[in-house]
Amino acid sequence: MPENTIYVIEDEPSIAEVVSLYLRRAGYVVTSIPDGQVALELLEKRIPDLVILDLMLPGMDGYSLTRWLRERSDVPVIMVTSRREEMDRIAGLEMGADDYVVKPFSPQELVSRVRAVLRRAGGTGKAAEGEQAIVFANLSIDPASREVQTNGVPVELTVKEFDMLYLLACHPRQVFSRDHLLERVWGGADYIDPGTVTVHVRRLREKIESDPSAPRHLLTVWGVGYKFEP
Ligand code: CA
Repeated sequence: MPENTIYVIEDEPSIAEVVSLYLRRAGYVVTSIPDGQVALELLEKRIPDLVILDLMLPGMDGYSLTRWLRERSDVPVIMVTSRREEMDRIAGLEMGADDYVVKPFSPQELVSRVRAVLRRAGGTGKAAEGEQAIVFANLSIDPASREVQTNGVPVELTVKEFDMLYLLACHPRQVFSRDHLLERVWGGADYIDPGTVTVHVRRLREKIESDPSAPRHLLTVWGVGYKFEP
């Protein structure tokens, strides 16, 4: 199995150093980058297997980098925030970060988080986003039992319907292109017609929307793809 590559994007030398040291000891190939703009240039050339990202960076901040990454890639992102940025880390998760650690953190804990996130990312896409049920006012999605309920009534979904709904719901308001959904839900098998996604979205709407012709959750973003509105 090839070694996982990790970018540590962090401008505090002491933190960058200790994090890199621990990750290298754990067997990862680490590139330490102290500047957001430089990080962007490196990411444009190559996206690693995981990104550890400080929020406050010179050059380009962690939010902008996450947004840039999320438009292009599923690469797992672990955000590093300080206590003062408590609110920010929630925004970070909403923006698509996979996990976060709050300074000061133990490097060993960060290594554990890295392992966990990479394990989830290495899954086949089946409920690989995390284990927690997602509950909204009229819709609940439980990845452990793979059960979906609307207004308390169980809904029967196929495997792919469930996987797609769960993926979208794990990233509220994030737009997924059809290719991206094919990649994540169907494993990018190139014999599958992109129209498959359209069909699955339509079926899902018939199952979970009270008015499938005027969906509230599964929205089409014209010319781009689909997103989940909580
Ligand atoms: Ca910083």
